[in-house]
Amino acid sequence: MVNASLIFVVNHRLKNVVNEPLTRGNSALTPANQQLKSPAMAIREIIILPDKQLRLVSKPVEKVSKPVEKVTAEVRKLADDMFETMYDAPGIGLAAIQVAQPLRLITMDLAKKEEDGETKPRPRVFINPEILSSSEEMSVYEEGCLSIPEYYEEVERPARVRLRFTDLDGKVHEEDAEGLFATCIQHEIDHLNGVLFVDYLSKLKRDRVLKKFAKAAKRAAE
Ligand code: ZN
Repeated sequence: MVNASLIFVVNHRLKNVVNEPLTRGNSALTPANQQLKSPAMAIREIIILPDKQLRLVSKPVEKVSKPVEKVTAEVRKLADDMFETMYDAPGIGLAAIQVAQPLRLITMDLAKKEEDGETKPRPRVFINPEILSSSEEMSVYEEGCLSIPEYYEEVERPARVRLRFTDLDGKVHEEDAEGLFATCIQHEIDHLNGVLFVDYLSKLKRDRVLKKFAKAAKRAAE
């Protein structure tokens, strides 16, 4: 017997595939973006499994927690560097902890190719992001993570979420996210809470990938 919610998930996935070609190439946190090069930006090192920092809960960016306060130059510089790092990787989302900064800050660019084949960058920053509510409806995407290179698995998450976040001008926004945006923001907010997408997999799969990265780190240290 096939369970009804499972059928829904499968259908939903098919729909996603039709609307936005969600193959590994352009959805699994690998963009088709052009790079935003600027001499002021610097590529930072992305930390990967099994680095324990990935399991830290990040601190709120205090300077921007109140709408009237300005984002510091340091926070802006970090966001700039994160974009540079993310485009270079390449990836579509990055949490500050992935460059070893335990702050609640996320960069993202979900720009798709235009009809003329060009991709205009659409960089977005989410400071102190919170999920206010989540849909009961779920959707499945194949996820990847710059901190778990070359590993992709399907993860089921709420299909839609309502978000609150602060932008680089210190303004607080509320916004609904769906599709790839909903998946990506949930994946990145998880990073701020020390959660990785492999935590949603079966224990067998998770243990296998954790072991693989632990071994690779050991080999690299030798
Ligand atoms: Zn990630």
